[in-house]
Amino acid sequence: MSRGTMVNAFDRATARLNPAEEALVSRREAALGPAYRLFYETPVHLVRGEDVWLYDTDGNPWLDCYNNVASVGHCHPRVVEAMAKQAATLASHTRYLHEGILDYAERLLGYFPPELSHVMFTCTGSEANDLAYRIARAATGGSGVIVTANAYHGVTLATAQMSMSIGPAVAPGPEVFPIPAPVAANYPQGVAQGFAAAIREACARMREAGIRPAMLIVDTIFSSDGLITGPEGFLASAADAIRGEGGLFLADEVQPGFGRTGATMWGFQRHGVVPDMVSMGKPMGNGYPVAALAMRPDVIADFGAKARYFNTFGGNAVAAAVAGAVLSVIEDEGLMQNAQTTGAAFLAGLDQLAARHETLGSRRGAGLFLAVDILKDGQPSAEEAARVVNGLRDQRVLISASGAKGDALKIRPPLPFRPEHVGRFLEALDTVLS
Ligand code: PMP
Repeated sequence: MSRGTMVNAFDRATARLNPAEEALVSRREAALGPAYRLFYETPVHLVRGEDVWLYDTDGNPWLDCYNNVASVGHCHPRVVEAMAKQAATLASHTRYLHEGILDYAERLLGYFPPELSHVMFTCTGSEANDLAYRIARAATGGSGVIVTANAYHGVTLATAQMSMSIGPAVAPGPEVFPIPAPVAANYPQGVAQGFAAAIREACARMREAGIRPAMLIVDTIFSSDGLITGPEGFLASAADAIRGEGGLFLADEVQPGFGRTGATMWGFQRHGVVPDMVSMGKPMGNGYPVAALAMRPDVIADFGAKARYFNTFGGNAVAAAVAGAVLSVIEDEGLMQNAQTTGAAFLAGLDQLAARHETLGSRRGAGLFLAVDILKDGQPSAEEAARVVNGLRDQRVLISASGAKGDALKIRPPLPFRPEHVGRFLEALDTVLS
């Protein structure tokens, strides 16, 4: 997603396309227009998925180390069955009485601290963040938003303007105030203290521009900022800082949510903080478009009194059935625990490999969300990261790069990832680096 990332640098002149792929690329360009991007220098054509594997037209298996949507495994039979069964029974919206949405809402809220006791449904993470912004504006009377320097929060006008990683043609919007990502290099006085101070300073700049603060939004694992897993706890002082300025704290859990970080269901829990609102999406429906926003009741009171909310597809009966099945799979297959144990083994394996390859710089991870900085001549290198990502692609192993400069490998496999898959990844990485 980042501006500097080169892994999307598909170039027709250098790509190795067979005639069928050549034809698909032409049809894409003709039908979808110029704004879409393909992953990899030579794109991948996939036709089927199962568990942590994807299959191409020749039936070759590709190891998926990147998919955060099919999080409980591609085409999980229990999820597919729940979807088909509900779609064959009733596909209604939220304007009729139905148990499905309530059963799911109550179950989902059970995973949150008791303060967050309402949940509203959307179809995408962008919509959830957009709704949160409308609610924050109503609750605070302000309109200013603080984001991190390479944030990504969505595709609507408001959320695209909060998404620094899309680039300067779009972000920051006039009411959006970016601050440096919470890493030690940006805050030598200490990340917790420095990041909180940056929030207060951004609010001061806002007020000078005649804008009052509405909210701080952060992806609690800072995925597009290069994956920032610690120090655990620093988001608590960030939440204090924005609340002290009259704004709300929105935790964007679209990336880390639903158990990926291993020890906790949500990324914000790693920081011991209770947000005012929490947005969710991507893995929530394992591929079916379902997303949500959880919040404290006092935060939505004003908005609820003045505006009505209806989202045609958000929280429909099929969405609720699918999302419920996803939760059941996470619970029954112990996927959070697996994310923790397999993630720890993965990180240890990367450490071992780094002892032999100077290309591998700093490594970090939380559960099955991992990143490795890629170096060339001792310096972070986006070009080298792109070479590694494309090299792994040639080994039929799928990942991408992240960070403001695109110089970190981003590794984010489906949660049923097992030690043998870690072994296969490390073997492929060893080959690419050798
Ligand atoms: N927030 C974050 C942190 C995301 O990574 C994304 C999607 N990449 C979104 C929001 C937007 O979600 P969606 O694409 O479902 O609109």
